[in-house]
Amino acid sequence: VGGGFAGLYAAKALANRDVRVTLIDRKNHHTFQPLLYQVAAGVLSPSQIAAPLRHVLRKAKNVEVLLGDVTGFDLHRRCVKLTGGEEIAYDNLLVAAGARESYFGHDEWSENAPGLKTLDDASEIRRRVLLAFERAEREMALMGRHDPLTFVVVGAGPTGVELAGAIGDIARRVVADDFRLIDTRRANVLLYEGGPRVLPAFSEDLSAKALRQLDELGVKVHLDRLVTGVQPGRVLVGGAWVPASVVLWASGVAASPLGKALGVETDRSGRVSVAPDLSLPGHPEVFVIGDMAKVEGVPGLAAAAMQMGRWTATNVLRDIAGRSRIPFRYCDKGIMATIGKHRAIAQLGSLHVAGFVAWFLWLFVHITLLMGYRNRLGVLREWVWAYLTSQFSARLITGEPAERSVSAPGTVPISLESDTLLTRQTGRP
Ligand SMILES: Cc1cc2nc3c(=O)[nH]c(=O)nc-3n(C[C@H](O)[C@H](O)[C@H](O)COP(=O)(O)OP(=O)(O)OC[C@H]3O[C@@H](n4cnc5c(N)ncnc54)[C@H](O)[C@@H]3O)c2cc1C
Repeated sequence: VGGGFAGLYAAKALANRDVRVTLIDRKNHHTFQPLLYQVAAGVLSPSQIAAPLRHVLRKAKNVEVLLGDVTGFDLHRRCVKLTGGEEIAYDNLLVAAGARESYFGHDEWSENAPGLKTLDDASEIRRRVLLAFERAEREMALMGRHDPLTFVVVGAGPTGVELAGAIGDIARRVVADDFRLIDTRRANVLLYEGGPRVLPAFSEDLSAKALRQLDELGVKVHLDRLVTGVQPGRVLVGGAWVPASVVLWASGVAASPLGKALGVETDRSGRVSVAPDLSLPGHPEVFVIGDMAKVEGVPGLAAAAMQMGRWTATNVLRDIAGRSRIPFRYCDKGIMATIGKHRAIAQLGSLHVAGFVAWFLWLFVHITLLMGYRNRLGVLREWVWAYLTSQFSARLITGEPAERSVSAPGTVPISLESDTLLTRQTGRP
């Protein structure tokens, strides 16, 4: 269940082996989440970081891909339940439905502070960011003044830092020459973090370097500051409302509710505690892998999910061969984060790198891991173009009419005609 990093890599490892595999996902594509922020920033287009699952697995004759939304399981009858009421029987079940950001019990904030998890989210964020500039230009044209442009990002983990850096880049370089009346360079990018430093998963020295790099991009970082409320056009920080043209949420982790649907104990994030071989205690035929699994010392990263997927496939094949299972061992290959153009940090064991070299490393790793040669070539071409010209080509505003969700109180609503490259977005709840 799930064609993300864990599920897809498990299916690939079982390809053309003597087993029948059914891969179920509610989407027809695999998304390369580490590059989602580049879609949100308008560097890449959605199709460049995703690949149809059916196509990826076309040569795996024993793998059937099914588009479907899994709602639960019957562990005793060994079947998976889908929304339409259908059931699919299994001998082994691999649950890999991932996680998304957590609003800490305030899911109502998501409307005004979208998170970044899917291609729809990325397109929505890009739409809101670009529309904020459009709205300011229009206010300027009609009223001779505009509300200050303020972009608020909540949470300074990798996603928050990447988003804040990218918006800083857009405002200062990418769209600066496109507008006649407003100075986009004066936009505020505020990054709020509840903890004492940015990128807490990295060492303190790299975290400090990332802070400096954010500062160079004009991002104002506020540490030890919890956002405790979100309303249209503003966020509540330390008891005071801060006006915001756009708010983006990149804080907390909530594992898929399918963890709870397994009927077992989960931690506060909804992750399932698994046995050393990643199986469900009491149900050796069921495995929980990727971001849904709670394994001591294993981070919620694509690399870990891929390893879990491959490892579980190996254990399933060992079961069939009558051999004993091997407990999962995570191979830590390091962590990286980018901060706008040319800037990044990388922690590879005891090697700590920051700046251009880290950015180049980041580029190399992400191109290598992208699914499909066509995507790799396309992304490389866009990056070279963006590097040489400082221009991002995917800057079209698409999505639902602007006045429905982005008009902050006291601003001019924008009504865009049907011939202005607007398409109706259907994916977001
Ligand atoms: C913005 C962002 C940036 C990231 N950057 C990095 C990075 O730079 N490096 C890194 O290592 N990691 C990064 N990560 C983390 C990494 O993407 C995750 O750790 C990884 O995707 C987890 O893999 P997974 O297979 O567990 O879940 P996912 O990849 O999320 O896959 C879950 C799949 O399950 C499907 N699904 C969910 N619910 C259902 C259901 N009920 N029925 C059917 N299908 C369902 C989903 O459609 C999805 O395809 C990032 C994550 C995000 C969101």
